[in-house]
Amino acid sequence: MKNFNPKSRVADEFISHEEIIDTLSFADKHKNDLPMLRQILAKAEAEQGLTHREASVLLACEVPEINQKIFALARRIKLNYYGNRMVLFAPLYLSNYCVNSCVYCPYHIKNKHIARRKMTQDEIRQEVIALQDMGHKRLAIELGEDPVNNPLEYVLESLKTIYSIHHKNGSIRRVNVNIAATTVENYRRLKDAGIGTYILFQETYNRQSYEVLHPRGPKHDYAWHTEAMDRAMDGGIDDVGIGVLFGLSTYRYEFAGLLMHAEHLEAVHGVGPHTISVPRLRPADDIDTSDFKDCINDDIFAKIVACIRIAVPYTGMIISTRESQKTRERVLQIGVSQLSGGSKTSVGGYANPEESNNSEQFDVIDNRSLDEVVNWLIKLGYIPSFCTACYRAGRTGDRFMELCKKKAIHNFCHPNALLNLEEYLTDYASADTKRIGQDVIDRELETLSPKIRAKTKEWLERIRKNNERDFRF
Ligand code: SF4
Repeated sequence: MKNFNPKSRVADEFISHEEIIDTLSFADKHKNDLPMLRQILAKAEAEQGLTHREASVLLACEVPEINQKIFALARRIKLNYYGNRMVLFAPLYLSNYCVNSCVYCPYHIKNKHIARRKMTQDEIRQEVIALQDMGHKRLAIELGEDPVNNPLEYVLESLKTIYSIHHKNGSIRRVNVNIAATTVENYRRLKDAGIGTYILFQETYNRQSYEVLHPRGPKHDYAWHTEAMDRAMDGGIDDVGIGVLFGLSTYRYEFAGLLMHAEHLEAVHGVGPHTISVPRLRPADDIDTSDFKDCINDDIFAKIVACIRIAVPYTGMIISTRESQKTRERVLQIGVSQLSGGSKTSVGGYANPEESNNSEQFDVIDNRSLDEVVNWLIKLGYIPSFCTACYRAGRTGDRFMELCKKKAIHNFCHPNALLNLEEYLTDYASADTKRIGQDVIDRELETLSPKIRAKTKEWLERIRKNNERDFRF
């Protein structure tokens, strides 16, 4: 093992290539080793997580009986940590100007035929009203890296605009931010602007592939990009979200890198990532996935989700509308805790759906409306959650993780999810969604302790009858 040091602040030491190569060969050697597989599973049963090396052995495992146990355990951990709640959000694309040259993204600088758009504050207002009218409370803003067109001041002004809009009973209560790697000072400014999670996908942890896939522009700098979460946390941001774009390099390499990154954040900052996203490469304007030899199939994708769930039980997992209804249904059971719904991946696509065809970042597969997604989740037995209470009550970073690790987060999340669902049903739902949603709320109330149930019932009545909003535990 060379150079590997999770406590180091140097990218090549906490994501040590040598350690990943050693891990993959260790996993290959033990993928049919029943005593070792059973030993790792026994450790995982305690629901306190696994190292990247142990989890990599499970990912490589070829023994059907063990693989069944992996999926069953992932299901159990998902239920124990997250119950049957499923958090909903929407992406909001502010601008697709970008000076980078990522070969898998249609916003790359050399793409001259995609429409370039940057929203004015007034256009953002229209987008936010359209999102509020759907029922969204939580957004993730997205924009390309372009110091001239998309400076930090533009992001900060947009955040102010988004938080200021209250259309009818609507409000956006948490804005997660996905912008390019930046300085500690800029992260501090984002924190002061009240962002939720800072999200930055690594794309690939394989430095060699990374440099080929990002041939020019500031994103070419692997160390600057890989060390971004450390700077974000130094700047006071509590919650960070990591992820890779599966398909850019071999999935087992990415999986080990992802978990090493989580171990590093925990070792240095005392808290791991708040979320892990699992996007897969998708076709888009001038992007053909057949150019990428490492794309993964649905079965491997499901196994990755299950193994992440087991390795980091207390880290939220996010899936977008890049995936079909069928795939989403499969992975919700075994690990995913947040999903987007009714999404547009174009700039200005919510208020002006005709925009969708010329500035999209990727093709959306799950094109259902938010109401259809909520209805579907309820019918599958989930509680769609629009809750943002932890962030607003200061339960972030290590405070959130501590509650989550003790599985105590349920005491807040469950009644809060019901209260937020009631707001959605009262203000935005179709008749059928409203009917089945009310049944779910009645049923789930019975699972609460008598004291919390009484308070929740009182607040539910006030939402329904007095048009009051925003109750939370
Ligand atoms: S992935 Fe991001 S940085 Fe790269 S071209 Fe697309 S928008 Fe720009």
